[in-house]
Amino acid sequence: MTGREHDQDVDGEGRQACETQPSDGGAPKVRIDWRLDRRDIDDGGIDGPPLTYQGVPFTGEVVEAIGDQLLWQDFYVDGYQHGLARQWWADGPLMAEGLMVWGHCRGVFRSWNHDGTLAKEQVFDDAEELIEVREDFGPARPDALPRSCPQCGLDLVQEITRHAAHGGQEGTDEWWRCPGCGFLGRPDLGGRPILHPFVRPTGEDGDCVFCGGEECNRASETFVRDGWLCGWVVCMACGRENVRRIKRVR
Ligand SMILES: [Zn+2]
Ligand SMILES: [Zn+2]
Repeated sequence: MTGREHDQDVDGEGRQACETQPSDGGAPKVRIDWRLDRRDIDDGGIDGPPLTYQGVPFTGEVVEAIGDQLLWQDFYVDGYQHGLARQWWADGPLMAEGLMVWGHCRGVFRSWNHDGTLAKEQVFDDAEELIEVREDFGPARPDALPRSCPQCGLDLVQEITRHAAHGGQEGTDEWWRCPGCGFLGRPDLGGRPILHPFVRPTGEDGDCVFCGGEECNRASETFVRDGWLCGWVVCMACGRENVRRIKRVR
């Protein structure tokens, strides 16, 4: 589990890792969050020295989370990654899982599509040699979201935006973006296996009426509802969204 983006620093108030005593009387379990405890963590680089927390080789769990949703979770013993390593899609499904033994990949690492179907298996031997890669697991389920761009056919890339807490919880929005033509789709909130194409409106239409942010709106294709031509507008800055009436139609 290497190559993650780990550099999102957060203005924490010197947050302490929480330490709990497990009921089975084992060693204390410590969880640190990469985003919240970033300033106290030194991973020494990909092949570097052991991971330290506040200068001490770390034993415990390292995670990154959005609210209650873990994005990834690794376990460390004396600063070496040791135990199951997992990643999740930001809206919940498991994305990848494998076993680390004293900092080395061991056995089968699996990754899954967003719809839960198996995407890839990588097999490592005891010397951490990658000895096999299996990828041909057939198509994603037919009720899954489209994974290729409807305009140019390239694989879409998932993009998660966060919105700050307004009247409650921090939350996320999920988008699928084409790295080729720039197509931007948003999953249907009603659960249908479709992506709604969104555009970035220009001028006044691009400005958020709620937070005043400029050019932070994304807008859906227009649709007709209750005799009005409407657009679905989402602000990327504050996360608020609304259906905007454009004009009366028959
Ligand atoms: Zn495209
Ligand atoms: Zn806004």
